[in-house]
Amino acid sequence: MADNFIEQFIDDDLAAGKISAIQTRFPPEPNGYLHIGHAKSMFVNFGIAEKYNGKCNLFFDDTNPSKEKTEYVDAIRRDIEWLGYHWEKEVYASDFFDTIYAFAERLIQEGKAFVCDLSPEEIKATRGTLTEPGVESPYRNRTPEENLKLFREMKEGKYQDGEKCLRAKIDMASPNVNMRDPVIYRILHATHHRTGDKWCIYPMYDYAHPICDYLQGVTHSLCTLEFEDHRPLYDWVGINLGFSPKPRQIEFARLNLTNLVMSKRYLKKLVEEHSVHGWDDPRMPTLAGLRNRGIPAEAIKDFCARAGVTKAQSECEIGYFEAVVRDYLNLHAPRAMAVLDPIKLTITNYEGSEDVEFEVNQLDENAGTRKVKFGKELYIERADFSLDPPPKYHRLKIGGYARLKSAYIIRADEAVTDGEGNVTEVKCTYFPESRSGNDTSGIKAKGVLHWVNAESCIDAELRQYDHLLRDADYSGQDFSERINLDSEHIFSAKAEPYLAEAAEGTAFQLMRTGYYKTAAENGKLILSEIVSLKDNFNK
Ligand code: ATP
Ligand code: MG
Repeated sequence: MADNFIEQFIDDDLAAGKISAIQTRFPPEPNGYLHIGHAKSMFVNFGIAEKYNGKCNLFFDDTNPSKEKTEYVDAIRRDIEWLGYHWEKEVYASDFFDTIYAFAERLIQEGKAFVCDLSPEEIKATRGTLTEPGVESPYRNRTPEENLKLFREMKEGKYQDGEKCLRAKIDMASPNVNMRDPVIYRILHATHHRTGDKWCIYPMYDYAHPICDYLQGVTHSLCTLEFEDHRPLYDWVGINLGFSPKPRQIEFARLNLTNLVMSKRYLKKLVEEHSVHGWDDPRMPTLAGLRNRGIPAEAIKDFCARAGVTKAQSECEIGYFEAVVRDYLNLHAPRAMAVLDPIKLTITNYEGSEDVEFEVNQLDENAGTRKVKFGKELYIERADFSLDPPPKYHRLKIGGYARLKSAYIIRADEAVTDGEGNVTEVKCTYFPESRSGNDTSGIKAKGVLHWVNAESCIDAELRQYDHLLRDADYSGQDFSERINLDSEHIFSAKAEPYLAEAAEGTAFQLMRTGYYKTAAENGKLILSEIVSLKDNFNK
């Protein structure tokens, strides 16, 4: 059963006998790191190939040598593997440069392409508008022989960048601007990350892409909506070069998320201007950033599946993405305790220490319990005690009761304050019959507080993040005005030693705080926020 309109098209093509096996490709340009938008494209390209028992290639669209780097190729491979997708072949547009060139000569010989001496500015100025036709180039009627000679000279390096180009000879009056004698080759004296200085002319994307698709045996070339207006040119190339079967281009809507920039160009700027720590900064929407943030690959794929594949442009709430991540972690992340802004809690009638049983994850039947050391001196959150509580305050107040998670009910008796009236310590009484799992005390305590043992806890650095872009109210503004440079907040916290014993990169639910990933830096435990605990999405 087709899950979306693309699959419906594929089913139709299969039913009509146009094709027998599915071949797709995921086509990044190696000019930056992949972002979550690309995860959607992978979900579509790899996902459809998997579903139809077909194949998906990793196709590097490297027709623009000035921006492409091997560093990006490596990063792209790593990110795809991390998401768990498998490509059939790794292919580069540059693998096909010879054939792409030979096809251009063929178009020239058949009178379907010509060498044009207009400058890029002149070409732009004579392209016409949506309501007016373009103006034909004065070089349009050169003979195939002359065109061939000039094109070969272009290839041999006789001309400077921009001095000449090769254009398809289609229709300057076409209602589709892309069909108005589009440039298909340009001169660019640049070193290519793979072909070096072999070429000084490079094919344009719109011309190269259908050829590369065809040469790879791509049956369905799945891309985003901005290419819809380019489809007539995609088809023109296939028809005029006699491709059979001709790959079919199908467009779907890009994934856009509020509060995130999703363009490699801008992301690169953030990295270069040091607005973030790098491509893998945990605030970045890059896959490297999301991975570093601690977001599981499965949650990203689940999000892509839930967001769906449509033709309708839309912007997805970042809160929806976070809700999907939270749902995943809620089921999978072990629980632990850390205190962000500690105050000391002393249990005056308790001596010694004991282990209490702490549920690893109450939603996971197999997770079981682990032991946490309880003692006389603990830390709790400053915000969990109030000297001046509002009505219905369920946390700790003088004379009030609360439960310490997995341990006992306590009553606060006295607050010690410093010279400025800040609470420095809370003294309390515990009730031995109220032990968790075996509470016979009959005492009612609504609030459950997390805590750490003052004797065995360790110092940790806790990092929290705001969104990199201020919210959508600003969406009319340029991204540079919306960028939130003050989006990383660092706290010192007290944590259970258990958190430092876990493998680096483990995702935990810090009780009542959020989902955090562990790391060690210079021997110190770092807890960095993956996603907050609260669901703001429906608010
Ligand atoms: P950017 O503007 O971020 O640089 P791009 O489209 O130029 O993106 P490519 O490397 O050319 O980046 O993209 C590879 C594939 O991923 C293309 O097919 C493109 O359509 C798709 N893609 C890129 N961004 C998104 C997105 N936000 N949602 C869905 N698909 C996307
Ligand atoms: Mg691109």
